Amino acid sequence: MSKLTKKQATELVPALEALYPEAKCALDYDTVFHLLCAVLLSAQTTDVSVNRVTPVLFGRYPEARDIADAPVADLEAILRPVGMYKTKANHLKAMAKVVAEEYNGTVPHDYGKLVALPGVGRKTANVVLAEGFGEQRIAVDTHVFRLANRIGLTEEKDVLRTEEGLMKILPRDHWTPMHHALIFHGRRVCSARKPDCEHCGIRRFCKRNGLPNE
Ligand code: SF4
Repeated sequence: MSKLTKKQATELVPALEALYPEAKCALDYDTVFHLLCAVLLSAQTTDVSVNRVTPVLFGRYPEARDIADAPVADLEAILRPVGMYKTKANHLKAMAKVVAEEYNGTVPHDYGKLVALPGVGRKTANVVLAEGFGEQRIAVDTHVFRLANRIGLTEEKDVLRTEEGLMKILPRDHWTPMHHALIFHGRRVCSARKPDCEHCGIRRFCKRNGLPNE
C-alpha cells in the first residue's frame, strides 16, 4: 500500500467534506482569548467536558488579567472535571499573565508568539490561528494523525511531519475544513480501535481500501 497521489488526495477532499458539512470547532468561546483557554484545556479530554467548565471559568474570570490574578486553588477547583487540572491551572494562569502583560490582554496573531506562551503547543497555536483568526491551518490531533496515515494522505511517524505532509498534499484553501472533516470522520466512522470500513463514505479513496485496520 502506498501513499495517495496528489490527484487522489484532491479528489478525496470534496468527498470527505461533503460527508460532514456541519464539521466545525466544537469548543464554545466568544473571544479569541477564551478560544485559546478552551483549546489549552482540551488536551487529553473531550470538548464537551471543556464546554462544561468554561462558562464557570469565564463567568468568574473573564479577561486575561483576571485569570492571571486568580488564586490557583480556585482555578484548580473549576478545572477539576477536565483532568490534569493542576497542570492546566498553572499553564492557564501563566499563559494569561503573559497575554495580559506582554500583549495588553489580546492574543497575538502570530504563530511564533503563540507557541512561546506557557502551555501552548503547535496544535493549540494552529487551532487558534484557524478558528480565531481565519487562517488556513492543519492542527494535527490524535484523529487527524491516525486518519492521515491510515488513508494514505501521509506516511509519517510523528505529528510534525504529518502536518507538513498534509500541507503538501492538500489544497491550501481546504486545510482548515479538512482538519475538521478528518476529526469528524475519526470520531464517527474511522475510530482508533474499530474503523467501520464497510460503511465508510470515503472507502474508495482509502489506501486500505476498506480492509480492517489492525
Ligand atoms: S476505509 Fe476504513 S480505514 Fe479507510 S478511512 Fe474508511 S473507515 Fe478508515
